[in-house]
Parts: sequence; C-alpha cells; structure tokens
Amino acid sequence: RSLTAAEAEGDERAVEAALRPKTLDEVVGQKRVREQLGLVLEAARNRGRVPDHVLLSGPPGLGKTTLAMIIAHEMTAPLRLTSGPAITHAGDLAAILSGMNDGDVLFVDEIHRMSRPAEEMLYMAMEDFRVDVVIGKGPGATAIPLEIPPFTLVGATTRAGLLPGPLRDRFGFTARLEFYESDDLERIVRRSAGLLGVDLTDDGGSEIASRSRGTPRIANRLLRRVRDYAQVKADGVLTREVARRGLELYEVDELGLDSLDRAVIEVLCRHFGGGPVGISTLAVAVGEERETVEEVAEPFLVRMGFLARTPRGRVATPAAWRHLGLEAPPVPPA
Ligand code: ADP
Repeated sequence: RSLTAAEAEGDERAVEAALRPKTLDEVVGQKRVREQLGLVLEAARNRGRVPDHVLLSGPPGLGKTTLAMIIAHEMTAPLRLTSGPAITHAGDLAAILSGMNDGDVLFVDEIHRMSRPAEEMLYMAMEDFRVDVVIGKGPGATAIPLEIPPFTLVGATTRAGLLPGPLRDRFGFTARLEFYESDDLERIVRRSAGLLGVDLTDDGGSEIASRSRGTPRIANRLLRRVRDYAQVKADGVLTREVARRGLELYEVDELGLDSLDRAVIEVLCRHFGGGPVGISTLAVAVGEERETVEEVAEPFLVRMGFLARTPRGRVATPAAWRHLGLEAPPVPPA
C-alpha cells in the first residue's frame, strides 16, 4: 500500500513500514552494526550458506525490526515475524519451525518473553536445525524428531541481559543498538519529510531531531504530529518556531523528555528526595509497568545523565533536579 493511502487511513503501522529503510545502505547511523552485519551477510552469500543467527538488543524504536527486514531483503529470503509473548507453548514454536523453508529468516521480537519450554526447543533448533516434538503426556509420551531446513533466527530484545546465557550463546552475531546522535536523527527526519512530502526547513528538522529521545521511531512520529500542526496553525511550512510550538502542544520538552520520562524524575525528586528508590516502587509511583520504566524511560534518563542506577536503587542526579527547576539537596558527606 502507498504511503499516502496508509496516511489517509491513519494506519500507524503501515506508515511506519513505509518509512523503513529497505537496504543496509539506506540505514542511517549505527555505522559499526551496519558494517559488521554487512560482512556477516556477504560472507554467508559467498559461501552459499544461511547467515549466523543474529541477536539485536536496544530500547524500542531504534531499528531492530527494520534490520531484521533488511537481513531478509539482502539475502532475498522470505521473512517470518513472530514475538516471544505469542509463543506460549513449545508447540507454537514447533508449528512455526515446521513451516519454514530453506534460508528463511525468522524474526522473534521480544525474544526474552518466550516461554521456557519453547526456549529449550529453540536451543536445539538453532544449533542442529532439528527439534523433538513431544506427542502425548505422561509415561506414554513420545518424542518425534523433526528436521528443519537451515534458517536464520533474528532475535530482538530490549536488553541482552534479559536472555538466559545458553540462548545468548547460540547467536553467532550480537549487536547492541545505541540511541542516535542528533545529526543522524536529523538525516532521518529529512529523509522521512521527503517521503511524506513535508515542507521542512533545516532548523525545523534539527529542532525535531533534538527532541526525539535519540529514537528514529519518535523522530518520525513527531515529524508527522508537527506537520499536522504546521498545516492547521501555520502556512504548512515546518520551521523551527512551528516545530517548537507544535512539540509544546504534545508535551515534549526541549530535551525530548516525554511525559513518562518527566514523571519518573519528578516522582524521584519530589516524593523520594532524589532516591535511592527501588525500580518497582518507582514504577508503582508513576503508575506504569516495571518493564516500561526499566526498558523505555530509564535507558534514556541514564543516557541524559538524569538518573543513576546504584546497588540501593535509582537516584536522581543534580542535573535532573535542575531540569525540573528544583534545587538539589546538598550532597551528604561521604
Ligand atoms: P524496533 O524494532 O527497534 O522497535 P523499528 O525497526 O520498528 O524499531 O524502527 C522504528 C522506525 O524507525 C521505523 O519505522 C524506521 O523507519 C525508523 N528507523 C529505525 N532505525 C532507522 C535507521 N537507522 N535509519 C532510518 N530509519 C530508521
């Protein structure tokens, strides 16, 4: 479907899909990952073999799904998509694996959330391209071996540390995606503006980029929100001033913190005197899932130097107090 049609229907996922880079060359930033992955794929092509299994880790929206699609594209192989939470039984995984063809790429998003029995089945599939399918229960149960054609598993997770060691060890190539620098985000915003036909000035683009939490998905989303603002409240041209006013409306502050990021440091400073506070307590206080606080808000706040993880819990830094316009408490004597 065309980008225009997806936009007209307000289909967020289709719009996101249309904005995805299709080849490694189109990927902006992540230079090291791009080079390493390019090498892995080229070597596999030269040997006429399937590429090693690939593990991609990093906060949401940094390009894990995009890279999985590119791996399939570059190998001219079909891509199958599933996710850890969708695989609740080993049987779910067996069904997927038994339908695979030689060279297929299997993308498992949130692979750390797969059930334990499925995980154990996956070890074997990754290593030996076969699984044992257990039929029946109790003493009468029998294991039927099932051969699987060689395939490439691409797993995605917000943090590689969430995976059990034996699973992590079975990936031949592991890449950690980092938050993007402003100039890379600016290129992404400009590229998307081109595709969307948005009239964007250079400083408008840099304003959006600098408020995108280092995250391409957010950069694209903000671009579209601010474009709406420019059309309705201005003459359609997306200048820095228009971007600023639009982003204010959407509660994105000048450093890109969104309402959850701000809630976390607000609660930390105002209710807990700056910490240390355990992550679970913090999550309850902001009314969010622990995982969301830990895997979405926290990495960005740590990167911004607003939050520190200590053995006793999370602590707000003086910069966080300043960002909220509060006076940091005096540092206690060591
Ligand atoms: P993840 O799977 O890590 O949550 P996605 O791969 O879905 O993230 O990326 C989210 C959006 O960000 C995609 O629509 C894509 O267009 C954009 N994007 C991600 N990484 C890049 C990149 N390196 N260059 C350009 N666009 C990117």
